[in-house]
Amino acid sequence: MNEIIQIQHLQKHFGNLKVLNDVSFDIHKGEVVTVIGSSGSGKSTMLRCINLLERMDGGNILYHGKNILDNGNDVNQYRSKVGVVFQSFNLFNNLSVIENCMIGQIKVLKRSKEEARAKAEKYLKEVGMFEFANKASTKLSGGQKQRVAIARALCMDPEVLLFDEPTSALDPEMVGDVLDVMKDLANHGLTMVIVTHEMQFAKEVSDRVIFMDQGVIAEQGTPDEIFNNPKHERTKQFLSRYS
Ligand code: ADP
Ligand code: MG
Repeated sequence: MNEIIQIQHLQKHFGNLKVLNDVSFDIHKGEVVTVIGSSGSGKSTMLRCINLLERMDGGNILYHGKNILDNGNDVNQYRSKVGVVFQSFNLFNNLSVIENCMIGQIKVLKRSKEEARAKAEKYLKEVGMFEFANKASTKLSGGQKQRVAIARALCMDPEVLLFDEPTSALDPEMVGDVLDVMKDLANHGLTMVIVTHEMQFAKEVSDRVIFMDQGVIAEQGTPDEIFNNPKHERTKQFLSRYS
């Protein structure tokens, strides 16, 4: 019905290492899905397959019912609709803050400079970074960089944003600012898939929590089901490390 993305029997291996083994789930409009699980369980690889940064070895990913590997799919257009925010920000170091937020709009969406600037200003305000608009992006702290990276992704008018441990590279005192921005986006109905180790945050914002273990979805459910009543031993073990 209102699925934006359908992930069906996704398989990925690197050489002999099976990293994703029959992963299936849907992302519905307006949903916040968090993905938790140990390091090495395949979370990043899954996001990278959804964003076509990795080639899947089996299964299908549908975007509005269409296979994302179809010849007609323009990868850059698709990536503007299904954006990613990385752990390491990936800002363009040679560009200012606002230029970082404008370039994709101009190159991929063919917006005019004026239009791109207006949109960039709007989202830099939203993440509390407008006063830094003309600063070199290299001059920012990690938390500031990540808020700019989020603004940059929002400028593309995404339908879904994927986040891969957006706060894992930050000093502890910066984490709260970035999580607050993400909570705000969740409250405004943005569809998000968030890989995170911030369990309290996951509890608060998620409609659904997916626990990944060794390349499979071991368990998924509401935050209450996963955090308060986990069924699987592996989920219990994993969560016990955070309490
Ligand atoms: P997570 O994000 O859950 O920590 P990853 O998806 O990054 O897990 O990695 C899953 C497994 O795949 C790990 O064993 C990792 O070493 C391996 N892996 C990831 N990317 C590559 C790659 N490009 N080449 C070989 N192995 C990889
Ligand atoms: Mg990862």
